[in-house]
Amino acid sequence: MHLDLGSLDLRAGATTALRLRVPVEDFALAGQEYRVIPRAPELSVEITRSAGGKSLRVRGRIELEGPCWRCLEPVRIDVPIDAREFAGRGAADGEPDDEMASDYVEGEVLDVAQWARDAIAEALPPRLIHPDDACAAFVADPADAEETTADDPRWAPLARLADELRAREGD
Ligand SMILES: [Zn+2]
Repeated sequence: MHLDLGSLDLRAGATTALRLRVPVEDFALAGQEYRVIPRAPELSVEITRSAGGKSLRVRGRIELEGPCWRCLEPVRIDVPIDAREFAGRGAADGEPDDEMASDYVEGEVLDVAQWARDAIAEALPPRLIHPDDACAAFVADPADAEETTADDPRWAPLARLADELRAREGD
């Protein structure tokens, strides 16, 4: 999906915000497939024109669904997106200035889909896993487990039984 920034006809200093449904391709991460939900999330794209070029900001929120790296059950990860780019106007002779060039802008055309996809990739947590207490593979720290057992009144009868058995054995 592409957006022609030139067609926006922004005055210097002016800002415009567009809400766009941007189709985002699925991700392949660590050999697993991850689906972007929704397929074409509605993102806000803000364009501010300055003397030197255009400041761009994309914001929104998606969910990514795929296997948990720990238990392999499906997990949905909430991914807030907030990324900025600057597209310089280039030198006076009209030649684009490489240092000011955005990877996502060619001429006046912004590749919104590629930008959004990269912004999502950057916003992902380091590991795609369930929260501990929701993960099928989650094993509580044994030290915690012992403490819990001792304090849990449900275990009291079993503890008494164990004591009785030990006492009998001692006989
Ligand atoms: Zn899990």
